[in-house]
Amino acid sequence: PLATLNDPSLLKTDALINGEWVSHSSRFDVTDPATGLKLADVANHGAESAHHAIVAANKAWPAWRAKTAKERGAILMKWFQLLHANADDLARIMTAEQGKPLSEARGEVGYGASFLEWFAEEAKRIYGETIPTTDNNKRYVVIKQPIGVCAAITPWNFPIAMITRKVAPALAAGCPVVIKPAEQTPLSALAVAELAQRAGMPAGVLNVLTADSDNSIDIGKVLCTSDIVRHLSFTGSTEVGRILSAQCAPTIKKLALELGGNAPFIVFDDADLDSAVEGAMVSKYRNAGQTCVCANRFYVQAGVYDRFVEKLAEKARGIKVGNGFEAGVNQGPMIDDAAIAKVESHVADALAKGATLVAGGERQGDRFFTPTVLANVTPDMLCSKEETFGPVAPILRFETEAEAVELANATEFGLASYFYSRDIGRIFRVGEALEYGMVGINTGLISTAEVPFGGVKQSGLGREGAHQGMDDYVEIKYLCLGDI
Ligand code: ADP
Repeated sequence: PLATLNDPSLLKTDALINGEWVSHSSRFDVTDPATGLKLADVANHGAESAHHAIVAANKAWPAWRAKTAKERGAILMKWFQLLHANADDLARIMTAEQGKPLSEARGEVGYGASFLEWFAEEAKRIYGETIPTTDNNKRYVVIKQPIGVCAAITPWNFPIAMITRKVAPALAAGCPVVIKPAEQTPLSALAVAELAQRAGMPAGVLNVLTADSDNSIDIGKVLCTSDIVRHLSFTGSTEVGRILSAQCAPTIKKLALELGGNAPFIVFDDADLDSAVEGAMVSKYRNAGQTCVCANRFYVQAGVYDRFVEKLAEKARGIKVGNGFEAGVNQGPMIDDAAIAKVESHVADALAKGATLVAGGERQGDRFFTPTVLANVTPDMLCSKEETFGPVAPILRFETEAEAVELANATEFGLASYFYSRDIGRIFRVGEALEYGMVGINTGLISTAEVPFGGVKQSGLGREGAHQGMDDYVEIKYLCLGDI
């Protein structure tokens, strides 16, 4: 699938360190999850290269921070334009290594690029403040300065957007970055890095370390324990987030963590049912259910339960599953064997405990799973408690608003949540009562560069996107001027 790129030079297979493409004697395979076929072998870097990248970033820092915000913004804006100009190739690379349908991959290129545009503009708005004095001989001034070398460890489910969402604010603020993309999707990361080079990114300001899963652990240790690295941003599982957080403790590193979710999707009796079904479709089945904001469990009020199940099942049966390059396909493969095994085990567990299979439930080929709807689901089933990360919609029944809120909040996670209601009082009550960083009300799609994305409880720390997305990458400095 990569033989037909318009610009084959976007296909990079070495790491980017200090502005140079750096090979390694060790290589690892990147495969197409739809076919299992090898796409490329990529340089398998380790701890030593991580040290080199950190040193290069630190060396590049003074000149980068000395540029004006407008100058840094101009490079980000050029990079943004190059992502759009090369959107077809980037989408092909992404579909090949990640599996999502080509139209979704194109959508992600646009979404990923939007962070570059947003933070290119925000660079100019990193305002300080003056504080009215309490002593006429003194003046109080607050300025914001770049935190220093930043590290980003990113997942495979959004191979471009999860990089730009971290890297754009860091660069805009005046920080150099070292990125370690997921081992499943390094080609997207490298293509985007090549475009950064073409946009005029100075050597050492943006570094990308490629590695397989074992070496990723070693690189992670170096990034976490380095006292040059001042900030680590991670998107991935809660389990790995805990490890990284512990590793960062000795150097008191600032952390941004975007971890697992277990998003509830509540449909009240007064909802517009067709709209709720539409919202459920995008929230649940996008990226084959492999997003951290995917609805994981559905709570539907008794009065509309049967109709909602029926309508959702009908729509789910209409999803065409297949290779993401085929026309008309709207759901690709699961990323790997472990991912599909987890989906199968959640469905089997639910059926064994008395759930009803209303749609799907079938594995097709090695890694494809048909869009599934399960009814009569109960809170003791695995699919109600754990993130399935697949195309399975388990539907539970509830009677009262208080019961729905209690069920929705009964988890250690707190990333995204959704509910459908037309009652303005209920919208405020439930919106305020849900213990989540994000609440989609009468919509299943909440992500955009202008808003603060992030979770509470064990779903993470910090916010990405929006003007708040810059906060992590600046330190606040208080200047106290005396002898006035
Ligand atoms: P997922 O379950 O979505 O694959 P992971 O949390 O396992 O998410 O992986 C997300 C990212 O974290 C990937 O880039 C992966 O290489 C990296 N990673 C996984 N384990 C570790 C670790 N122990 N130390 C550093 N990075 C890790």
